[in-house]
Amino acid sequence: MAYSNERSTEQGSSARAGCGMARFGIAGLIAVVALISYCSNVQVNPETGERQHVAMSPTQEISLGMQAVPQMSNRHGGVEQGTEAARRLQRIGERIVARSDASRSPYQYSFQLLKDRQTVNAFALPGGPVFMTRALYDKLPSDGQLAAVLAHEVGHVVGRHSAEQLAKAQLTQGLTGAAAIAAYDPSNPASRNAPAVAAMVGQLLNLRYSRQDEYEADRLGVKYMVQAGYHPDGMLKVQAVLESLGQGGARPPEMLSSHPDPGNRTNQVKDLIQELFPNGVPPDLEP
Ligand SMILES: [Zn+2]
Repeated sequence: MAYSNERSTEQGSSARAGCGMARFGIAGLIAVVALISYCSNVQVNPETGERQHVAMSPTQEISLGMQAVPQMSNRHGGVEQGTEAARRLQRIGERIVARSDASRSPYQYSFQLLKDRQTVNAFALPGGPVFMTRALYDKLPSDGQLAAVLAHEVGHVVGRHSAEQLAKAQLTQGLTGAAAIAAYDPSNPASRNAPAVAAMVGQLLNLRYSRQDEYEADRLGVKYMVQAGYHPDGMLKVQAVLESLGQGGARPPEMLSSHPDPGNRTNQVKDLIQELFPNGVPPDLEP
């Protein structure tokens, strides 16, 4: 309380004011450095052509994502292994990557089924790990619907949306995490600042994508699933399934989170399909 007062009354009396000024000066300096760092860290995404503010290399994204896998898994009852469902999910995911433009990206994809039968959701971590909960899996009967979710999540990876959101968060929260990750070289474990990386993993598991991120993930997702031979109607069916259970839950599924108006989203996906395939979708796509 005293600190915030001191900061707002910089013209106060005697030494206290001076101290306040100094603190303000340092805080201001950190903010300026954070801003310069954010603005100077611009990379062009080779897949989307977008100029992005990201403070990480793809190698660092892969490393950070891998470090977050155990926590993501623990949150949802662990990873289902060796079951037909787990193998099916992995097979569909690998087909999407192998047959689409996503294969050109440097990321290391994996597709895992989480044991959680309560939470309807799917997630992607930076660098490639993709997850779907058993609760969502059980609501999607066709390969095409599973492919729609996985392709959307692959879209978040290729779009580098986590790295982008982290860079934004660091701009507002100060430079600690950004400096730690900038100094982190995955090939040199000694450079790793464990507490800072742990803080970033925590941020990662709670971050929210923007509406623009969701639109881009849908766009890439529709493209990738069709390239892999799945009918894009699967994406519309997934929307319908998620909307039908949208109300009542504490937090909406990731694929709906940035879209308060579900009707809009369905029309947006229809427009995307029309835009990507103006002469109709290719024949013989799997439902
Ligand atoms: Zn999404």
